[in-house]
Amino acid sequence: MNQTLTNNKSIYLETFGCQMNVLDTQLVKGQLQSLGYAFTDSWQSADVIIYNTCSVREHAENKVWSRVGEIGIHKKQNPHVILGIIGCMAERDGKDMIRKHPQIDLLCGPGELDKVPMLIDNRLKTDLEERGGVRNADIALQGNTHRRTATLSAAQDTLEMLDLSRAFDPDTHEGSAYVRITRGCNKFCTYCVVPNTRGGEVHRHPDHIVEECKKLVEQGVKEITLLGQTVNHYHYDTNATITIEGVHQPQIGQILSPNRGTGGPSPVFSDGVVSFADLLARIHDEIPNLQRLRFITSLPRDFGNDILQVIKDRPRICRYLHLPVQSGSNRILKLMNRGYTVEEFKDLIDRVREYLPDAELATDIIVGFPTETEEDQQQTAELLRYCKFKNSFIFKYSPRPGTVAIDRFEDDISNDTKKRRNNELLNIQSEISKEIHEAYVGKTIPVFVEAISRKTIKARENAADPAVTIGWEKPQEITQLTGRTDGDLIVVFDGDASLIGITVDITIDQASPLTLFGSQAAAVNASSNNA
Ligand code: SAM
Ligand code: SF4
Repeated sequence: MNQTLTNNKSIYLETFGCQMNVLDTQLVKGQLQSLGYAFTDSWQSADVIIYNTCSVREHAENKVWSRVGEIGIHKKQNPHVILGIIGCMAERDGKDMIRKHPQIDLLCGPGELDKVPMLIDNRLKTDLEERGGVRNADIALQGNTHRRTATLSAAQDTLEMLDLSRAFDPDTHEGSAYVRITRGCNKFCTYCVVPNTRGGEVHRHPDHIVEECKKLVEQGVKEITLLGQTVNHYHYDTNATITIEGVHQPQIGQILSPNRGTGGPSPVFSDGVVSFADLLARIHDEIPNLQRLRFITSLPRDFGNDILQVIKDRPRICRYLHLPVQSGSNRILKLMNRGYTVEEFKDLIDRVREYLPDAELATDIIVGFPTETEEDQQQTAELLRYCKFKNSFIFKYSPRPGTVAIDRFEDDISNDTKKRRNNELLNIQSEISKEIHEAYVGKTIPVFVEAISRKTIKARENAADPAVTIGWEKPQEITQLTGRTDGDLIVVFDGDASLIGITVDITIDQASPLTLFGSQAAAVNASSNNA
């Protein structure tokens, strides 16, 4: 790539959606920075504006549509500006998006993100005049055939190179980092757009994952979160590794459930197969300086005791599981194609409580799935009371184009009913969360410090604006920090910003349903934690 063309161009890159998108943004950004692009926080002054998008719910897409409209107006005065849509919306809507919004100059799906620099470069090299005034966009999409996954054994998976060429820059993290272990998904839950937008499930070679974690820790990262749509299905057969130009290629995920219903390790695992439990153990044991290892998200189907045992035996793997249940009704779970029953889910919760009594759990729930009755809703409420999650992410069903559910089922639950059911479950969850959080009052617990709290940031912004009256006496001198416990509970406390990225002991003196409030325990505890 010709670097002289790309220098002096500034990029504004905004991310919508899940942690997977946050990581994608970091990787794309690293790639572009290494090519000389500068990044700006102001879209008004940027030469290139990129939105990394999410399609999971309509609401997430609407936010991007409103940005696209805004940029359309901006481009009338600034025709040189390039607008790029990357991620799931680009893949889902494809070329239609450009027909409807000709201000978009480039589109790139999540399976093609290694091509973003090429697309931008192409666009910069051949501006509108050279294109004869025709606004044809630069496009890299997988299409419905999921080319990459179909040809993994025949062609190099260049997306793997995006992860492998990750920029290891201590300034780009604050002690924690995401590492991808699987991409895509092939579970085809009927409501979900992810298998269409991110393609089929592929697993990265364990050596690549361990190596990436090692490098991050060498650069000062203390906490790593492994990412995948169904991390517990991680499965890599090292006897069947294909290596192209020194790069171990990812492997296609299994269609069969590895250990359905047994709670035990997979019967299909043979020597040379690395399971999720093996991978966790390797990362923990081979990287002693890694303070915390987390993972999201697990599919409640096929969560074996082998994984629970590995966590139990290894103190630096966090006692936190995100287990999205989606519904407490077997009838709805079946319509959703989740592949487990409420009884199997409860069995998993019981096993977690047996192996890891101090673990905190969280879940995702969809209310108002087609045909959901009040009885189904009551069953979900009962399940919430049984499981005692520390928090639940509750979503109103949103019909998504390209999914089985939108074709097969009418969206027959009114928005008002969805809202009411959402609030009912939130109220129950709030009581449970309060109880869980209050149980920590009086305890001293290790907290990994992540950032300055939003309250402090806001207070400082307001202090800089003389027109705003502020509640705090000396906002500049008080720094409220936020961090997380091993079980992923949010903790806020006053402290010095230099604590960000390290673990300190905090004594909890107050609790709300979502947050613990505390103060720093004796400094000697803090330093022993980070020795
Ligand atoms: N892979 C994870 C799993 O299997 O649970 C979840 C990934 S999904 C991107 C994140 C959450 O979004 C889901 O757990 C689900 O609750 C929610 N979600 C997905 N599709 C949705 C839809 N069409 N309407 C409402 N919520 C949805
Ligand atoms: Fe979507 Fe289901 Fe895959 Fe999760 S497991 S990403 S909900 S299809």
